Amino acid sequence: MTKGNINVSVENIFPLIKKFLYSDHEIFLRELISNATDATLKLKHLTSIGEAHVEYGNPKIEVKINKEQKTLHIIDQGIGMTGEEVEKYINQVAFSGAEEFLEKYKDTAKDAGIIGHFGLGFYSAFMVADKVEIITKSYKGEPAVRWICDGSPEFTLEETEKAERGTEIILHIAEDSTEFLEEGKIRELLLKYNKFMPVPIKFGTRTHTLPLPEDAPEDAVAETEEVDNIINNPTPAWTIVPSELTNEDYMKFYHELYPMQFEEPLFNIHLNVDYPFNLTGILFFPKISNNLNIEKDKIQLYQNQVFVTDEVKGIVPDFLMLLRGVIDSPDIPLNVSRSYLQADGAVKKISSYITKKVADKMSSLINENREDYEKKWNDIKVVIEYGLVTEEKFAEKADKFTLYPTVDSKYFLWNELTDKIKSSQTDKDGNLIVLYASNADEQHSYIQSAQDKGYEVLLLDSPIVPHVIQKLEASKEKVSFVRVDADHINNLIKKDEPVISKLNDTEKESLKKNVEEAIKDAKFTVQLEDLDSNDAPFTITQPEFMRRMKDMQATGGDGMFGMGGFPEMYNLVVNSNSEFANRILKAENAEEKNDLIKYALDLAKLSQNLLKGKELTDFIQRSYQQVSK
Ligand code: ADP
Repeated sequence: MTKGNINVSVENIFPLIKKFLYSDHEIFLRELISNATDATLKLKHLTSIGEAHVEYGNPKIEVKINKEQKTLHIIDQGIGMTGEEVEKYINQVAFSGAEEFLEKYKDTAKDAGIIGHFGLGFYSAFMVADKVEIITKSYKGEPAVRWICDGSPEFTLEETEKAERGTEIILHIAEDSTEFLEEGKIRELLLKYNKFMPVPIKFGTRTHTLPLPEDAPEDAVAETEEVDNIINNPTPAWTIVPSELTNEDYMKFYHELYPMQFEEPLFNIHLNVDYPFNLTGILFFPKISNNLNIEKDKIQLYQNQVFVTDEVKGIVPDFLMLLRGVIDSPDIPLNVSRSYLQADGAVKKISSYITKKVADKMSSLINENREDYEKKWNDIKVVIEYGLVTEEKFAEKADKFTLYPTVDSKYFLWNELTDKIKSSQTDKDGNLIVLYASNADEQHSYIQSAQDKGYEVLLLDSPIVPHVIQKLEASKEKVSFVRVDADHINNLIKKDEPVISKLNDTEKESLKKNVEEAIKDAKFTVQLEDLDSNDAPFTITQPEFMRRMKDMQATGGDGMFGMGGFPEMYNLVVNSNSEFANRILKAENAEEKNDLIKYALDLAKLSQNLLKGKELTDFIQRSYQQVSK
């Protein structure tokens, strides 16, 4: 038997480990299963290159609870350790055997998927155990050894009997950690961290019903047998080459990943790089139009099939946080602070790779099946628009796959749109005027009047549209977006034939005065315009700039919401060519004039959804009185 002191510089590292190493005590299980997986994969590698002359077989890892003994066991059938190796790898804390192994076999082991490299993984056991035993037998055939340590820097190491190759770790669970003796808790942890680990993990057994033979009598009872209950899927879809996967496989994996999600995702993106960093994964586009529940079921980050976190901010660009799926990369540094993560070069590259991959996928989707892409547009536009606004690299490619739907459900790409409107929708300086509505119902009368003039009206209704427009106006030359109810729309677009004035200047002057007098309490700027005689007599408009500032405020997301600050500013455009204008002028007395003007104003307000409460009630009453006269 050997007795000795574990080689650490601080007097007692264990209280430190317990307190500071990981804030989440539960990760000890992930660490120990990672070690067991590494030990198994190392053996696989050594047998494959002919260095270990043993049968690899179908090894598994077993997790067992012994309630009476208050122990938790993690048993593997991997390479095991000799006494000497235990001294070296376990006693010298922070001397990582994994790193040494990779160093020694660096040419052949690159793809073996070895996990550990922190050197403290094993000691995380002391976060939940007050005594830990290792019983291990090396594949090299040397006698098995038992190592015991009670959390002080002292340990014992002695020879022992063990029939099979591999390692058993026994945790004597501490009084304050007895939750880890509960089957439910361990199952939960295994499913959280180890669901896709590459070596089968057994946790208990389950009853399997055998199929009845074909000629069995009707009342025959099927036989059952106890089989290993394997917790994990060792070959999840992202580890398989895309060409070997069908759409069904992807859907199956999606539901495996998110058992509580019943809706199918719209499409998936298979990620696969090995240079200049390693990364695999699958991203799914969920339907998000009616499901903004993004808190649950987020993108999960794995490292060599070990779950690390679903906090992927920094690794995945912000605009893709609405997606679901898995990213697996051994190159993402773990257990480091967020700010470090964001500054890390590899992480930045990963983020821009993902951005590029998503942009490429969008381009190919729209090229492969435009009709289908258009159908899905409503569900994906928030992501695309958010990307367009926030990621320059994405914005550069976005013209290829960003759609601009019209109010009557035609879908244009940017160049298709500009081709369509370049001859009919320009102002006197040659700027392209893109007309849009944000709500087809509320702005119906404005849309109609724009369409009557032959203009295309887009329907841009997602919450970040003000930002999208700002971005487009800044990046495209000579383009202005104007909402259909904006002030200058009527005389902004250059027309081939000028409209002729039906009223002379004095008539106009007095009409303007009449209107201003009648509505002097209301906060409108009265504007007389020579419009088409079929255009509405009164129209309320809101300056594009003012309205946009307010929209930006509302979607700014940085506490500006609801603070107002910008005044309500409306124009009342009076169509001096309308029959109604004539009627106002010709009214017999002041009272009749006023009634007409107020009535027209109410109608204009009504069409802009501005007539509410008492005003609306009064209007309805007056209307009844009018028609019963
Ligand atoms: P890391 O896994 O990061 O190298 P650990 O402290 O978890 O650090 O483990 C230290 C070393 O102990 C490992 O590199 C490995 O050589 C050895 N080891 C740990 N667990 C096992 C095991 N189950 N089977 C064989 N060797 C193991």
